[in-house]
Amino acid sequence: MQYFIDVILPVPLERLFTYSITKAESEFLKSGMRVAVPFGKSKIYTALVHTIHQNKPEVYDAKPIHQILDEQPIITMAQLKLWEWISKYYICTLGDVLRAALPSAFLLESETIISRANNEFADDSQLNDDEFLVYEALQHQSALKVQEISDILDKKNVLPVLKRLIEKEVIKIDEEIYEKYRPKLVKYVKLVEAYQSESALESLLDNLSRAPKQRAIILTFFSMSAATKKPIKVSELIEKSKSTATQIKILIEKEIFESFHIQTDRVSYSGEQTDALKQLNTHQLKALEEINKTFETQKVCLLHGITSSGKTEIYVKLIADVLKQGQQVLYLVPEIALTTQLVNRLQHYFGEQVAVFHSKYSLNERVEVWQNVLRNSNKAQIILGARSSVFLPFNNLGLIIVDEEHEQSYKQFDPAPRYHARDTAIVLANIFNANTLLGSATPSIESYFNATKANKYGFVTLNRRYNDVLLPEIELIDIKDKHKRKRMKGHFSDRLIEEMTEALEQNYQIILFQNRRGYSPIVECNTCGHSPQCPNCDVSLTYHQYKKQLRCHYCGYHMSMLISCMACSSTDMDSKGFGTEQVEKEVNLLFPEAKVGRMDLDTTRGKHGYERIITAFEQQEVDILVGTQMLTKGLDFRNVKLVGIMNADNMLNFPDFRAHERSYQLMQQVAGRAGRTDEQGKVLIQTYNPYHKILQQVSNNDYLGMFNEQMDERHNFKYPPIYRLIKITLKHRDYNKVNEGADWLATALKQVFKQHVLGPEFPPVSRIRNLYHKNILLKIPQNQSLGKTKEAILKIKHSFTSVKTFRPIRVVLNIDNY
Ligand code: ADP
Ligand code: ZN
Ligand code: ZN
Repeated sequence: MQYFIDVILPVPLERLFTYSITKAESEFLKSGMRVAVPFGKSKIYTALVHTIHQNKPEVYDAKPIHQILDEQPIITMAQLKLWEWISKYYICTLGDVLRAALPSAFLLESETIISRANNEFADDSQLNDDEFLVYEALQHQSALKVQEISDILDKKNVLPVLKRLIEKEVIKIDEEIYEKYRPKLVKYVKLVEAYQSESALESLLDNLSRAPKQRAIILTFFSMSAATKKPIKVSELIEKSKSTATQIKILIEKEIFESFHIQTDRVSYSGEQTDALKQLNTHQLKALEEINKTFETQKVCLLHGITSSGKTEIYVKLIADVLKQGQQVLYLVPEIALTTQLVNRLQHYFGEQVAVFHSKYSLNERVEVWQNVLRNSNKAQIILGARSSVFLPFNNLGLIIVDEEHEQSYKQFDPAPRYHARDTAIVLANIFNANTLLGSATPSIESYFNATKANKYGFVTLNRRYNDVLLPEIELIDIKDKHKRKRMKGHFSDRLIEEMTEALEQNYQIILFQNRRGYSPIVECNTCGHSPQCPNCDVSLTYHQYKKQLRCHYCGYHMSMLISCMACSSTDMDSKGFGTEQVEKEVNLLFPEAKVGRMDLDTTRGKHGYERIITAFEQQEVDILVGTQMLTKGLDFRNVKLVGIMNADNMLNFPDFRAHERSYQLMQQVAGRAGRTDEQGKVLIQTYNPYHKILQQVSNNDYLGMFNEQMDERHNFKYPPIYRLIKITLKHRDYNKVNEGADWLATALKQVFKQHVLGPEFPPVSRIRNLYHKNILLKIPQNQSLGKTKEAILKIKHSFTSVKTFRPIRVVLNIDNY
């Protein structure tokens, strides 16, 4: 009898691969365990066991696996089920999903780059010979490929060695580490027993009179331990005594100090569970009851609650109930970096049961949360995370909350899997027979349609703000007219300046919103009109005043600001367009006394970038906050009276069928930051076109009006949710090749899908990172089988790639291209 396994390899291959195993291995292995397997000429990959069987593959000889890497499955059957759905629905391979789903520490391969972990002295007595060789090699070279390590050890399969070294935190996988993480094992020192008595200590200090540094370290140690009565961290001792790791090591070797480790959880919460849950008001209670009622018959419910109506407190009650049943909760948010406020709120209610999963966390932190979820540890009962947390190994999920469900950032655009986390969450919940609550003040057209027209979701509304604070008063300002009558100072109308002056006089805070899209300032030559372009993409470079740089927002290319025009050498250059930096500058001129802060991509880099700005604003160290889209995402500030939207037009005119829906959502969400606590807030929207329907709907808080009108358009122009969309993008270096390929593919598609194929067409930015892009859009009527449609597309795609000249063209499929 022969035994085989099918494995998922982390490569974009359409099928699973079969390897042979021994009988003993077949008894040990389970789906969801990792194995090291040879692949290609000399590569070794980490693969995941999918199925164990006895069917010999027909077309190739199954190679034996190298080694089993796990004792227990690291992924669950439920995950595999979800992955299969994702791969089928979003037309990608299981390998694509595997790559996105597993923290890369789980996926060593030949090309992976390994480097030393940044803990200073690894205890090499804990390493076996192979492990020590790797450790030593890394003392001489900062980084090595797995392949090179393979050569050093003269072994083909080194993945088990590396896996152990990662677990011991001797090495790490190279990736951008955004945060210097605390090592899991924190090293402490104490004085050895023999020197605990005062007399022994005195003679020790005498003996060390000729080693003043060592003596100083011991004295520092004493003053520290007298002050805290707790063990002393080596790192702190080094810092306080201004010594080095080597000097401390010498004291350990001399057997004066002894060292020990204390395990600390990196992502654990140190605070206590302090707050009792809030008492809901009658409106909240009613909404909560209705939600629970719809859950009796429906698995998904949409909560449409206006900004500051207290949705979060309702979520908290639902969470508490699910925890009582001993089940896990997934709480999805669009942008985890912006949720410091929420994390604090949840931790005060639920203490250490809250875990945060964040792609900006270091590998080890992510692995830790993963393991905690897998083990159903008490530390991972509520997972707060952005879209990738749908991939965690839940085993007893009771509820998923998708907050701000309308947010675009739930959709992953690149690379595959191009999944939508809200829709994936609903499927995930189904696997566990769990409930899903979608919440938003401005639901997406899809979800509102699904809830109120298609009856797919339950539907609950909450249209009173907590404390009955009125929604802000919204005033539209016609800046065309203001310009004509010379009532503008820079980009500020007289009305905006008036209201700002008043708010500042009354010690209120102000938010100024400037849309990111299309407002990036560019540089133009006043003599010849040339503006510097990105060499790799088909866009103008953006001017960053603060750094005096020109940068490309698509590929990251940057150069220092030009002194003279590249085309005509004139030095008469000017910046056009206006971004947040420009707004900030103008505010400083208009209100020199006010403290101004800015929140955009540039000022919020790094894990704690947002936190700093949000905290400064919360603490009222900043009077006026200028920002982009980020401002809209659910922040709760107490003292904001006025919100100014600098210019509404560009977002309305953006060439996208969702531009109007998005504009409505954006403006309502920014407006929702005003007057959240006691007094009614005020919102001023500056526009060239105050009669635009969307602006009228925004100023009247007319969601339903917006929805109905947008639905008419979606009907007329065959867009979601009436039709489904599949976007096919072709990418290649060569302009002509992309053109020919796109024409071929569109023609083939039109033979099957007829008038439902649009394009091919170049997108507004048609070259990115040196690749030309061309799009074909497919509209699929509701009654047409999605499965059959995808099959047909795949078939056409296969014939496409079998044409030799087209083979190098990348074809990207994007389903439900939100
Ligand atoms: P939303 O999520 O709908 O924008 P929040 O849940 O953030 O609204 O609530 C807005 C504000 O009102 C928050 O500061 C919150 O603490 C407060 N709040 C909401 N519900 C209650 C309640 N039942 N008791 C006390 N404060 C509440
Ligand atoms: Zn010029
Ligand atoms: Zn570029």
